[in-house]
This record gives sequence, structure tokens and C-alpha cells, in this order.
Amino acid sequence: MPDFDNLIYEKPETEIARIWLNRPEARNAQNTQLLYELNSAYDEAMNDHDVKVVILAAKGPHFSSGHDLREIPIGATEDRVGTWNGDDWEGSEAFYCREKEIYEGFCRRWRDLAKPTIASVQGKVIAGGLMLVWPCDFVIAGDDATFQDNTMFMGIPGVEYFAHAWELGIRKAKEFLLTGQAITAEEALAAGMVNKVVESDNLEEATLAFARLLTDKPSFALKLGKDAINATYHAQGFENVQRAAFNAHHLAHTHSRLKYEGSFIDPTFMESFSKGKNK
Ligand code: ZN
Repeated sequence: MPDFDNLIYEKPETEIARIWLNRPEARNAQNTQLLYELNSAYDEAMNDHDVKVVILAAKGPHFSSGHDLREIPIGATEDRVGTWNGDDWEGSEAFYCREKEIYEGFCRRWRDLAKPTIASVQGKVIAGGLMLVWPCDFVIAGDDATFQDNTMFMGIPGVEYFAHAWELGIRKAKEFLLTGQAITAEEALAAGMVNKVVESDNLEEATLAFARLLTDKPSFALKLGKDAINATYHAQGFENVQRAAFNAHHLAHTHSRLKYEGSFIDPTFMESFSKGKNK
């Protein structure tokens, strides 16, 4: 099994790969290294011909508190996998390239992974945490799970992967994005964002049981079925919405930089964040 600093990769069954986010002390905040490791872990599962389905789970009480804001903005990003290269550009270009690769780029790649993926979610999923959950094909949520895009508090109009309307429907997506309030697992179920809500104590087993509903099918048929449904995103114009929203996201970053002497988000949010009062 491959070895990672921020993840655990394992195969609970021959046909099931399971990736654990393993920064529980940081509420599984995503630093750059974690995201590259996750991309490598997905590749490992795609390259293993025995694996038919991949579970993404998280150690600790919370699935993910989002991007690790303490490391942003960061310098050089090594081992780029996309083509938005370069962290040494001037102006807004370096930051744009960075987020194009590790946020938008990875999310779109993970959504279109050949094999089915299942997010197994407990506790809080905040902002960037959504960007690990939403690209998965299925979401199994513990009854303690909550979901929140709090970027509006930062002066930013949504996380970098702009799937809100697809995940929640247009009206609920507006409420979710513009109010910045968390929704419960049951609300997410009602909106169609999650497949099942289970008792948190039973989340691991319930996710495995769901995975077994896939592993008794031929792998190629699973891939083809997934890809056929994902074609709906393209038919519905997801790529155009994503581009527009990503550019708006970066307009807000640039606005903040100009208004707040270089801070990429509203600094009052960072003050409350660093005091542990993250909204
Ligand atoms: Zn951003």
C-alpha cells in the first residue's frame, strides 16, 4: 500500500479502496500536500484493476474544515499535474494558476474519475470540505454531519468548485451560498445532496455496505454508467458556469487584495479565524 503523510490508503476488501483524510488534529484542513496526496491516492485506486469503487472517509470527529488558510498564499507548488503552470507570475496570475490547479482542476478531475467514488461524511464539512465531497458520486452522511459554505463571510462568492446549484437545486443553493449558514445531513438529503443519512456510529459499516452494492457489478459497466450520467453536467453547461464562477471568485480575491492591503480575503474573517471563532 502507498504511504502518505496526510492520508491513509487501504483496501478493506479486494474490490474496495478506502482513503482516509488523516489530519484529525487540524479537523482535516487541506494543505497543498494533502491535495496532491489525495490526487495520487485516487490514481493508485484507478490503476489497481481489482478496485471497483473508492471510499473517501475522514479520521476524527469532523470530515474537513476546508482549506488550510494558514498556508495561503503559498510559494511554489511542486509536481504540478495540470498545465496552469507557474507560481512566479506577477499580479494575480500566480494565485489564479495555483487555485486553477489544486482546487478547480483537481475537483473536476476527481468528479470524472473512471471508477465510482463514495464520500463517507461525519461532523463538519466547511467550504473547501465541500470540494472533497461534491466531486464524489455518492455521499453517505452520518446523522451528525453538517455542510456549510462560509466563504460569503470572507467576502468571497463561493468555493472554487461551483457546483452549488447542481448539488442543492437553484433555490436552496442561493440560501446556502448567500446566507452562509450550515445545513444538516437531513436537509442535505432532502435537497438531493446526499444519498443516505445513517447513524454516525454505523457510518463506516453503512458505507461499506453501500459500496458492496457496486462491487457485484462489472467494473466496465460501472465506469460507463457513471460517465453517461456525468455527461449531464456538460449538457447542462456546468463548464461554463464553473468558468464564470471561478473568475468571479478571483475578482473577489483581487478586490480584497486592493481594499485590504494584500489580504486575499476580508481580514476581519481571518481575525476571528485565528482567534478560533471561525464562523
Ligand atoms: Zn480562492
